[in-house]
Amino acid sequence: MERVEQTPEVVNYVDRVYQTVKERNPNELEFHQAVKEVFDSLVPVLVKNPTYMKQAILERIVEPERTISFRVPWVDDQGNVKVNRGFRVQFNSAIGPYKGGLRFHPSVNASIIKFLGFEQIFKNSLTGQPIGGGKGGADFDPKGKSDLEIMRFTQSFMSELSKYIDADVDVPAGDIGVGAREIGYMFGQYKKMRGGFQAGVLTGKSIDSGGSLARKEATGYGTVYFVEEMLKDKGMSFNGSTVTVSGSGNVSIYAMEKAIEFGAKVVACSDSGGYIYDETGIDLSTVKRLKEVENKRISEYVMEHPNAHYFEDCSGIWSVPCDVALPCATQNELDETAAKILVANGVFAVGEGANMPSTHGAVEIFLNSNVLFAPGKAANAGGVSVSALEMAQNSARIAWTFAEVDVKLQEIMKNIYRNSMKAAEDYDAPGNLVVGANIAGFIKVADTMIMQGVI
Ligand code: GLU
Repeated sequence: MERVEQTPEVVNYVDRVYQTVKERNPNELEFHQAVKEVFDSLVPVLVKNPTYMKQAILERIVEPERTISFRVPWVDDQGNVKVNRGFRVQFNSAIGPYKGGLRFHPSVNASIIKFLGFEQIFKNSLTGQPIGGGKGGADFDPKGKSDLEIMRFTQSFMSELSKYIDADVDVPAGDIGVGAREIGYMFGQYKKMRGGFQAGVLTGKSIDSGGSLARKEATGYGTVYFVEEMLKDKGMSFNGSTVTVSGSGNVSIYAMEKAIEFGAKVVACSDSGGYIYDETGIDLSTVKRLKEVENKRISEYVMEHPNAHYFEDCSGIWSVPCDVALPCATQNELDETAAKILVANGVFAVGEGANMPSTHGAVEIFLNSNVLFAPGKAANAGGVSVSALEMAQNSARIAWTFAEVDVKLQEIMKNIYRNSMKAAEDYDAPGNLVVGANIAGFIKVADTMIMQGVI
């Protein structure tokens, strides 16, 4: 490890580009936050490799290659015409087709989609798979909608999106509010519009439509594989630990499943209404039934498990004492106050299953308190990794077994851990996975952009 001096020239350059991002994208706070986090890590990289500055890589990487915003009209069950706003941000295609999920949630706007798309560039690079960065979605609230309303909305959404995607151009998948059902309807609509079965245009498909085994489990499992690797390095493990996992969606459920399989006791999980605490360890089969089958609130859990407790206000979950915390719900769900409580309660590791769930202040607290911290970009990359494996299977017209995919996923997560640790070491921030993941993800994309010329 060599000491890299932070020259004022580089610090000023990075700050200048960041200020421009703020000016050109006013009010996009989440996007600013995501850019700042990456930029803060890159100063030593630019000191060592001034070419990145000369080639204006930072200026280029913060500007999406293409941004599409479109009208999504649909008719509800009462016959009312509704209109939502759809987005697809095709951020960076240096190392492969744009790749990233679609989010259906009322909070979706340009800032949310751009922060997610920006993160996706580095996350996808870290996976070692040939995928660029993109993201999309709509400010549509799937909560309380009938199955037919969901179908009509997703068909309308895809009628427009289909013009911009292709297996070699842009491959969307799921995210919050978009699961197997929505992907199924979108795939059907795309197939009808294109007049051909192009399996590789979407990932997260059902198995019979060309989906991959283990894709559903991949993000949650991957987060736990990553954190286990990080713990192992310090002679620790999930085995025997107490764990809280926020959320109760796809990422959360499979993070809980793998943590329990690794010998942890998961005592709390949540949804947007509140959190449950079950001292004896959460019964995952109840959570799975409530959330995956019956579409119910997590509060219902305590009806079947009277010894468990339900508390309104989901952010209260961080006051539950635990050894390992896995934020798997949404952005900025864990703030400075929550981080202080977790640290005071003796948390020794935090692994982000969601995208940017910890605020900047919370991350600082974890790093300064010697809490092992796994940033989302690295720790939740398992989902998109298996999406890339789904694309590979679709191209080859083959289907791997669950075990085959799972082994590849484990290998990918270990590699992300090793590469991020190495980058942190090389750039004078040993053990800092935030810096390591940002640098390792950035260098590959930046070098490829330079090789491809000014485009
Ligand atoms: N939405 C997931 C993510 O944040 C998965 C994206 C994908 O599979 O393309 O990485």
